[in-house]
Amino acid sequence: MLSNKTETLSMIDLRSDTVTKPSPQMLQAMMEAQVGDDVFGEDPTVNELQNFAADMFGMEAALYCSSGTMTNQIAIKLHTQPGDEVICDKLSHIYLYEGGGIASNSGASVRLLEGNLGRFTANQVLENINDRNNIHFPISSMVSIENTVNKGGGACWEIDEMIKIKAVCQNNNMALHLDGARLFNALVAKNQSPKKYGQLFDTISICLSKGLGAPVGSLLLGNKEHITKATRIRKAMGGGMRQAGFIAAAGLYALQNNVERLKIDHERAKSLASVLQNSLFVESIYPVETNIVIFKVNTKIRTTTQLIDNLKENGINAVSMGNNLVRFVLHLNITDSEFEFLLSKLDEINLKQ
Ligand SMILES: *Cc1c(COP(=O)(O)O)cnc(C)c1O
Repeated sequence: MLSNKTETLSMIDLRSDTVTKPSPQMLQAMMEAQVGDDVFGEDPTVNELQNFAADMFGMEAALYCSSGTMTNQIAIKLHTQPGDEVICDKLSHIYLYEGGGIASNSGASVRLLEGNLGRFTANQVLENINDRNNIHFPISSMVSIENTVNKGGGACWEIDEMIKIKAVCQNNNMALHLDGARLFNALVAKNQSPKKYGQLFDTISICLSKGLGAPVGSLLLGNKEHITKATRIRKAMGGGMRQAGFIAAAGLYALQNNVERLKIDHERAKSLASVLQNSLFVESIYPVETNIVIFKVNTKIRTTTQLIDNLKENGINAVSMGNNLVRFVLHLNITDSEFEFLLSKLDEINLKQ
């Protein structure tokens, strides 16, 4: 009997959308997967997943990797030489949360932009490109955009600004990479097409293990030349996997079944935000566009640590993001009754000032 109940924890886990466990249907797809040795390119399920994702974005090829950190880091290595500079926002995951990989994997440095919740403009990019002919300066070789912006509370980009940034990149001989760990949240929230993204970016990283609910895996999308090189880099990083079809099957199931339902998470995030809006322990809330709700704690009422503890005592698990910010992330493992319970508990905590 297949079941996803591996433990009896009754906490409502809103720390991240990475905490989800495979549904019985997803487990079934994994059990039935056809597999082979993927380092030889012979795993039919991995190949199917890669082709499916590449087609979805209208891109030539895709590479299945173990994590979004790996797909981002491979992309950075593809687009830079040691000593080059990567242009990105100061909130970006590639800079903050990838263990210093830009420096250790690629020997590259970073030019940080100060955007609006992680979204910068084409003009900001233009102002931060170094003169290639001046030997003093690192070569600006790539721009990385994150959509949605994790640390920006799930903020989404407008297509128009990305089109302008693409033009700046083309005019200045720079590559454009997308950290799309939560790109599907943006596609659903803004009603945008994956093919449009395929036209704009040289490489795209998407995660299957965030809101889409697969247990593991990310894909790097690009042209054939990039993906051939990426396969070598993945191997050198120790990321070549053998009968990976068992986990790739979960990713394929996620892409085919769990995209549209993201709008449920988005609706819930908005309801959650409106309850928080009326809570005395909340000072302010970031605009809610997708499945992430970040708010600033009103420390006159409770410290952030006290609030996180209060939540925990009430069966709600959330994380602090520093600076008195607390993050709730909605995902597919939260049931309707758990969500109702969450809202009522927040009301209770609010009343107990
Ligand atoms: C989660 C995430 C990643 C990748 O994280 P892994 O845990 O390595 O899969 C990359 N970028 C963003 C914005 C993320 O939220």
